Amino acid sequence: MRIPVGISACVLGQNVRFDGGHKRNRFVAEDLAQYFQFQPVCPEVGIGLPTPRPAIRLLDTDGEQRLVGTKDANQDHTQKMLIFSDKKITQLQEQELCGYIVCAKSPTCGMERVKLYIANGNTIPGGTIGIFTRQLMEKMPWLPVEEDGRLQDPVLRENFVFRVFALHDLYQSLNGNLTREAIVKFHSRYKLVLMAHNLTSYQSLGRLVATIKEWDIEDFFIAYRLQFMTAIKHKANNRTNTNVLMHMQGYFKRLLDKEQKAELTALIINYRKGHLPLLAPVTLFKHYLQQHPNEYLQSQRFLNPYPEELKLRYSL
Ligand code: SF4
Repeated sequence: MRIPVGISACVLGQNVRFDGGHKRNRFVAEDLAQYFQFQPVCPEVGIGLPTPRPAIRLLDTDGEQRLVGTKDANQDHTQKMLIFSDKKITQLQEQELCGYIVCAKSPTCGMERVKLYIANGNTIPGGTIGIFTRQLMEKMPWLPVEEDGRLQDPVLRENFVFRVFALHDLYQSLNGNLTREAIVKFHSRYKLVLMAHNLTSYQSLGRLVATIKEWDIEDFFIAYRLQFMTAIKHKANNRTNTNVLMHMQGYFKRLLDKEQKAELTALIINYRKGHLPLLAPVTLFKHYLQQHPNEYLQSQRFLNPYPEELKLRYSL
């Protein structure tokens, strides 16, 4: 079953841009498409604009951002776009969307640093968010959203794809089974992941889960999903991953002989120094877990966050 993920249609290769072209991203359209069921959306075409079409931009008028024609600011598409976005995002939400890939710099789809003009033609420093994506992020604050260009960065790419798989895992784990037990089980599988991504969130989520019996289960799910997805947005790094690896090493203290322990320590140290990818110690841990099964460790998503074929941990 492929994971439902929204996407700016031009990033998937559809010729919907204002100039009649596209912005196809090979990694997305070929590699991720094997795992993600993309739901392409072009909001500008969605509100009835033709392709090709005159360029549009965001204009700040007395603190209000309007989507207008670049050449003719009287061509105001703001209201139509707000109505379209609201309806489309509600539809997507009902499909339990697990992520969204947006096209950078677009006044409609961009996620950050989109040019925001003022009347004299200058731009406001720092820019803004595209009008569709702003609504998307406000209505679904737990949703992993990333720009096509930023996916070229191996760390950002890994973090985004991991979050999509994690949210899908959450939905799948609770599908028709929204019980306290199912949430606690899910949380338990992500303990090492949380430790690697953000220790403070690991602790606060632990405290939240400890109070689960006091909550209405629907309310708990909503609070948990947001806190969990916000926590894993923090990027794990060499230092935090090393802490987790050393924590895992503790489970093997009495199970490995001297040479095996030394080999494992050497891999962890070499990973920490940047001489080896994370995959190296993780692979050895998996090997030792086959010899010495441990239910808790084997259930940890830290060891198997997404299909290895995506090769996302090669450069981490
Ligand atoms: S950036 Fe968004 S609005 Fe522009 S062409 Fe791509 S999908 Fe359409």
